[in-house]
Amino acid sequence: MKTYRLGLDLGSTAAKAALIDESGVLLGTRLDTSGKSPADAAQILAAALLADYGLTGENAAVKTVATGYGRSLAGTAAGANIRAVTEITCHARGVRHLHPDATGILDIGGQDAKAIRLDADGTVADFAMNDRCAAGTGRFLEVAASRHGLTVAELSAFCGDEPGLGEGVEPFEISSTCVVFAESELISLNARGMRPAEALRAVHRAIARRTALLLKQANVGEPLYFTGGVARNETLRKAVADACGMELRRADHAQFTGAIGAALLA
Ligand code: ADP
Repeated sequence: MKTYRLGLDLGSTAAKAALIDESGVLLGTRLDTSGKSPADAAQILAAALLADYGLTGENAAVKTVATGYGRSLAGTAAGANIRAVTEITCHARGVRHLHPDATGILDIGGQDAKAIRLDADGTVADFAMNDRCAAGTGRFLEVAASRHGLTVAELSAFCGDEPGLGEGVEPFEISSTCVVFAESELISLNARGMRPAEALRAVHRAIARRTALLLKQANVGEPLYFTGGVARNETLRKAVADACGMELRRADHAQFTGAIGAALLA
């Protein structure tokens, strides 16, 4: 009987699963954004991903590690207890597996942001985290997108990059540490006649400024890789690179690096 390793990243916004074979090759991933409980998301994702490869508890041994916000509530998978490992450790493991040169990681998810510095051997040397303030996370991008009738996946294309559009416009600062007040700042920009694409670019710049501070706090340098669902937003990737003055590369399988790291640690 072959052994497979399953990683579950039970995030605050999305649940992710990754399956690897005995030799560490990534077979596949799955994502669920439906807001189920961590235990339900773990069961459903594990069953679906194993079924994609014809695997059951009877024809394969599956070792599972869970990470993310809901990791300690994951329960069991394929009849076995799921071990819990912190997100920082899992992201570090996943990113170094995909990008062996990485010494810095920026992870922005739905409700938190983390800057992680790695030693030459891939162990975590330091990290800084913002999990208090939604204004620097994917949550704020979700609020800003929906206010303009967009999904987060549409944001970056909508922002475009027409140079000069923002000239003569005061740069928008999020002065509030609360997403509700930050949203009202955005509303007042719209009321002052700022074009939606420019207001949304300003939101990205504001998040990028906060992110640059987080990277500085943990003294994170290059080669630097961007992970988490928000790494799929190209406008934010460019804005963060500008704000911190470093090259910021989007990690492969960016939203799944925590799940991949968990699978590798299983
Ligand atoms: P968590 O692990 O905290 O649940 P994720 O790392 O899965 O969060 O990221 C979720 C966030 O990713 C959402 O809040 C959203 O802002 C962003 N996101 C998800 N899909 C996309 C996409 N296609 N394009 C841009 N941003 C996205």
